[in-house]
Amino acid sequence: MKRRITSHGEPGPGDAGKTGSWRVLRPIIDYNKCAPAKKNKKLCFLCWLYCPDGVITKTIEPAIDYEYCKGCGICAEECPSKAIEMIEESVFFNKEK
Ligand code: SF4
Ligand code: SF4
Repeated sequence: MKRRITSHGEPGPGDAGKTGSWRVLRPIIDYNKCAPAKKNKKLCFLCWLYCPDGVITKTIEPAIDYEYCKGCGICAEECPSKAIEMIEESVFFNKEK
């Protein structure tokens, strides 16, 4: 996989494999609360900055790559707008069946 520069330089998505399968909780962004999505401006992006795996985009709206997100919850902890909720992965598993 091509390496990309993340908010913290390294590591980048995929460096530890497809860690999405480790996930017990899935972060879901509520774009009605997320500052850049609400204001249509490039601001905040603390989730992008703090995600240890660099799997959140610095875009309006921020997006999470679930193939590599391991569900650590740091993004939800750091979001000043409480726009990210950690939801039990089993909820999605049952819906996607
Ligand atoms: S930290 Fe929260 S408000 Fe800021 S960009 Fe991320 S989801 Fe949006
Ligand atoms: S839960 Fe959030 S901080 Fe943790 S890997 Fe996934 S997107 Fe990144």
